[in-house]
Formats: sequence, structure tokens, C-alpha cells
Amino acid sequence: SRQFTRPLNDLSNQFNTLLSAVAGADRVFDIIDTEEEAVDEKGAVPLPNMIGKVEFKDVSFSYEKGGDTVSNLNFSAQPGETIALVGPTGAGKSTIINLISRFYEPEQGLILFDGHDSKKITRDSLRKQMGFVLQDSFLFQGSIRENIRYGRLDATDEEVVKAAKAANAHFFIHRLPKGYDTELSQDDAGISQGQRQLLSIARAILADPAILIMDEATSSIDTITELKIQEALQHLLKGRTSFIIAHRLNTIKNADQIIVIESGKIVEKGSHEELLAKKGFYHELYTSQLEKNILLKP
Ligand code: ADP
Repeated sequence: SRQFTRPLNDLSNQFNTLLSAVAGADRVFDIIDTEEEAVDEKGAVPLPNMIGKVEFKDVSFSYEKGGDTVSNLNFSAQPGETIALVGPTGAGKSTIINLISRFYEPEQGLILFDGHDSKKITRDSLRKQMGFVLQDSFLFQGSIRENIRYGRLDATDEEVVKAAKAANAHFFIHRLPKGYDTELSQDDAGISQGQRQLLSIARAILADPAILIMDEATSSIDTITELKIQEALQHLLKGRTSFIIAHRLNTIKNADQIIVIESGKIVEKGSHEELLAKKGFYHELYTSQLEKNILLKP
């Protein structure tokens, strides 16, 4: 069953749909809910505050009827674990993220959040416990302060700065002539992609969600900012269950579990060391694709 009647291409588009409603920031979920209410199952209840266990049990899904974009997915993320999703373009990594975020529903199988069947809980209550750090276009027209505060609308100025510090963003914000009052626009040339990612991390730290969804930047970022991002990620990932479409070797190596996807199927699961020792598909990716930008250094 498809959730949206209009076609949406990828996670960024879907997230943009959320952000485009930001003008009335606290209404963003209400707007999405209007579409969703029809598909929340009768009797769906709010998900209690999550501890953070996420399970896929034999999940299959296709965007087209009769297809199989992803099939028979089985995995279990324990509370607080970092899960790296790795695999070639088109393998199905974003689709898995789309299913976890419930932009789409599985056709077969179950997704469980702390043991609750995803179809029996309201989408709204689930999304409120999720944070997103995506590659592009996550900033909206407004000040840097407002952009970070979007993570938690009732946060004080002090809390915004504290989150920016934890995200390693304070160092560059502080140096801008207008600091936290710097106005951003969608295609702001003054802020690098790496700095945008730091702002997004600050927003997520402030939101403090049980579940974090991250689509790591694929383009190369200058080494200093890259190190700041890696450091900020350690703060962000701590104590929450995180799913990362990972392109950085460091991120992948530090993950508790690497899930390797090929053609919509999980072909391998394990830690970096375990998967290298297996000398299977991950080993092949690692040795042959490193140069081709599927995995990026660091
Ligand atoms: P990855 O994130 O690993 O690059 P995706 O999950 O984006 O892969 O894509 C998996 C497959 O699903 C690809 O063949 C892609 O073309 C297709 N696909 C992705 N999004 C859509 C969509 N909204 N509608 C139809 N097909 C899609």
C-alpha cells in the first residue's frame, strides 16, 4: 500500500516536504498527518517513549506493483546501536530508510519498534521520536538559531548554543559577523556543505530523538570539516539507535552492525572486521570500490 498519491523520488524530497511546511513550524506534522490519517490503521495508538529497538521481520516492499525493490529483509537493531547501510547505488538503502520512517509501508512482513507492530502505532507518534540528518537542503529560510531550534521548538538560546557546541558548529557560527542571527537561504553560498551538515547535526542533538536517520554526504568535504563532522557524530550517535546510509570508511568501521545490501537483499551483516574476514561482497566493495566513491575516505 502506498502512502502518498503524488510521486516522491527519495528521502530528501520527502524531508523537503516536511521542511516546506516549516513556515508554521509546529504545524509541520499536522500537515503531513492530514495525508496520513487515512492510512493509519483503525485503532492505531501512539508509540510510548521508545527505548530504541528496531526489528525487520521478513520485510518486502516494491514501489511498483509486482516488483521487488527490497525483499525478505531481516535484521534487529538493539537500543543505542549504530547500523551502517552499505551497498551500490540503487541497492535499496534509501528504501529501507523510507520504510523505517514510514514514508512507505511494507507489503509483507513486520517492522517492530520496541516490539510494537509499526502498523498498529500512529505515524505521527513514531516520527516525533526520529531525527534526520540528510545530505542536502535541510536548511530553511531563517536564522541559524531558528534552523537549529527547529530540532526542539521550546529550546532556549542557551540550549541552542550548547547543541551547536556539541555538534562542532559553534566554531564557525561564532565567527560569522551576525553569528547565530545569520540569515540562511536555501542556496546560501556562504555556508559550505560540511557546515550545513554540522548545523543539521546540531538540530538533531537538540531534538534528542530515540532513533536517528542519517544519509551521509557523498561529496568530499575539506579535511578539517570532515574531522569536525566525525567528532560531532560521536556525540550525536551516542545513546540512540541510528541508521546511516554510510559512505565514509570511519563511519562504517565504527558501526555496531554493517548491513550490506545488493539488489534489494541483505547479502551480509556484521562488524567491519567480521565482514572483511568473510571475504565476501563487503570485502569486494571495500577493496575494489574504495576508489570509486562508494566508500569515501576518511
Ligand atoms: P539506494 O539508496 O541504495 O541507492 P534506493 O532505495 O534509492 O537505492 O532504490 C532502490 C530501487 O528502487 C532502485 O531501482 C530505484 O530506482 C528504485 N526507486 C527508488 N525510489 C523510487 C520511487 N519513489 N519510485 C519508484 N522506484 C524507486
